[in-house]
Amino acid sequence: TTEVYYDDDADAAHITDKTVAVLGYGSQGHAHAQNLHESGVDVVVGLREDSSSWEQAEDDGLRVATPDDAAAEADVVSVLVPDTVQPAVFEAIEDELEAGNTLQFAHGFNIHYNQIEPPEDVDVTMIAPKTPGHILRRNYVENSGTPALLAVYQDTTGEAKDEALAYAKALGCTRAGVVETSFREETETDLFGEQAVLCGGIAELIKQGYETLVDAGYSEEMAYFECLNEMKLIVDLMYEGGIGAMWHSVSDTAEYGGLTRGPRIVDEHARENMEEVLEEVQNGTFARQWIVENQAGRPQYNQLHEAERNHEIEEVGARLRNLFAWADEEEEETDEKAEV
Ligand code: NDP
Ligand code: MG
Ligand code: MG
Repeated sequence: TTEVYYDDDADAAHITDKTVAVLGYGSQGHAHAQNLHESGVDVVVGLREDSSSWEQAEDDGLRVATPDDAAAEADVVSVLVPDTVQPAVFEAIEDELEAGNTLQFAHGFNIHYNQIEPPEDVDVTMIAPKTPGHILRRNYVENSGTPALLAVYQDTTGEAKDEALAYAKALGCTRAGVVETSFREETETDLFGEQAVLCGGIAELIKQGYETLVDAGYSEEMAYFECLNEMKLIVDLMYEGGIGAMWHSVSDTAEYGGLTRGPRIVDEHARENMEEVLEEVQNGTFARQWIVENQAGRPQYNQLHEAERNHEIEEVGARLRNLFAWADEEEEETDEKAEV
């Protein structure tokens, strides 16, 4: 069984007696910096001099310095710039790390795939909140918690885990529960999940379903509703009560049809492809491809990004979502109906 750590398992003193440099003030960075600060930790935000977030961080009551200056005075350096720029930012701060300091991450990619090779005399840990930063921040303010993963890659002080737990406590994560994993497991499952199931898998399933209906002569609107809009209702049911809660809530017809036809859509061929995708994550093929893609200025990424944005379902969706928002106001503003 998995051990889950809560507030009582963490001693805040392991972080409140330290200075934490939070590099980056984006999604994760702004939430870590403010939550740590309000939990009594000495925080300095590290940003490049022309950073658009510099003023915001100061307005939020935080000290700001360049990444190397911030790292120089810190005991713990939390690396919260985008994964693709972390190796370059690390190079700029590497010389400021002293023996016994900690390099702290929210995702394992650069450590696991050796894009960052930390000095041997620093601790390397991870606290990965399982939500976007603005929710981590909101939960903290509202006195609720955000689940997180904890991992220790390198422990030179013997206190890496205690310090990581204290960091998680200061973020508000031990209010909800913190689960221990490894950099390898976090990185590989995260990449596989977003590629095969969450982002890649679901977007492809939706588009293929939509295209199948439209190609067969059904209306774009019906195809959009059936294949995209209703997805949320189905996922909400699964989120709340598992797959069983979903089957329980839909009609017996939907359940019988789904149970007999679903495995024909996502079949053993899809399973083989999933295994192949997982292997590319495990053997570093995907990481290498993404690193090279970035070095080349993202030619393939830009092309795919553009094509996806221009898919017909996006245009149909934008139109229908507008119509819905409009329909909500319809009772008060009946005059505008003619514009539809
Ligand atoms: P963001 O893209 O939100 O980070 C943007 C911040 O990084 C800005 O403050 C930006 O400042 C700064 N930045 C960008 N480029 C540079 C640079 N070259 N030098 C210095 N600063 C730079 O990152 P996220 O918060 O999304 O991700 C941070 C980490 O958290 C990643 O490891 C990610 O995998 C992980 N994570 C993210 C989650 C999320 O929901 N977003 C969830 C869990 C983990 P500037 O104004 O200078 O551009
Ligand atoms: Mg993820
Ligand atoms: Mg239906």
